[in-house]
Amino acid sequence: GKLTVATIASHSAFQILLGAKREGLRTLALAPPGRGWFYSRAWFVDEVWELDLRDLTSMADRLLSRSAVLVPHGSYVEYVGWRAALEIRVPTFGNRYLLEWEADQHRKMDLLASAGLHVPRTYGSPDEVDGPVIVKLYGAKGGRGYFFARDADELREGLREVDGPYIIQEYVVGVPAYHHFFYSPLMGRVELFGFDVRYESNVDGRTFGLAEPTFVVVGNTPLVLRESLLPGVQRDGESFTSAVSERTGRPPIGPFSLESIVRDTLEVVYFEFSGRIVAGTSVYMVHGSPYSLMYFKEPLDMGRRIAMEIREAAESGRLQEIVT
Ligand code: ATP
Repeated sequence: GKLTVATIASHSAFQILLGAKREGLRTLALAPPGRGWFYSRAWFVDEVWELDLRDLTSMADRLLSRSAVLVPHGSYVEYVGWRAALEIRVPTFGNRYLLEWEADQHRKMDLLASAGLHVPRTYGSPDEVDGPVIVKLYGAKGGRGYFFARDADELREGLREVDGPYIIQEYVVGVPAYHHFFYSPLMGRVELFGFDVRYESNVDGRTFGLAEPTFVVVGNTPLVLRESLLPGVQRDGESFTSAVSERTGRPPIGPFSLESIVRDTLEVVYFEFSGRIVAGTSVYMVHGSPYSLMYFKEPLDMGRRIAMEIREAAESGRLQEIVT
């Protein structure tokens, strides 16, 4: 039957489901208890299932009977859990093996470095540290579980309270920029989509020196990057795609993001990647991203782009190339 695009009702679900509907697919919102009512008000949501998302694996048969394709997003792993995300027997849009790389801060940075991208230095111990650093615990979210140190002494002090694996990283001075890409297995190309900046509490707030710096994401704003930076960023996206193909055996299918700090020398330093849609793409919902016009006559947002790839893959019998 007709394909159903299913996603967790959070993060960028509106964009994903609207895009799916506009491409003529059926839409299903998987909502945590108490959240379904809000999504059921949208005309483009055909069905809402409210459930404990930790039980999603037990819903596999029901999802398969709907010919569902799961579209993961940034909150997906948070809701369903890492293991379930890897194991669920439902076709999942994208390269789900990347999840394993994202979960480990050292592996994540190795992957970026192996693509030849500029990355912050990683320090093995406080003795190597000669400037400001940021310490990140594995699995930290929204910057909770991070701390800064101005020098080696402050670092030693801070590490005394740390429990569990972490990475000590050079603190890069500059402005953040999050780069959105879409890798199309059908077209065999990396499409640059756009950029955003996160609006974070407390670093972007009016804290008057009252609060410690934290990076809890509250929203996103669009960003236009200096045009002279675009060719380099496009190359970075392509290098990353090749590195992912080599290391995981598959390209980063569909949307991915490279997350950077741009120094005053205009060097773009990448501290993170996301192997799926990031919430910041929703700033281009409906009206589309400006750079999508490089490849398409009409502007597209990321939700529509995902649905387009799914529809075209299904129509040409190539679904297995875009799901894992
Ligand atoms: P995500 O939500 O993408 O999983 P997160 O919110 O847990 O990630 P990051 O996005 O990795 O955390 O980092 C939070 C913030 O810390 C970023 O927005 C960025 O501004 C800052 N940051 C991270 N690493 C560095 C670095 N090496 N140098 C300077 N700033 C950094």
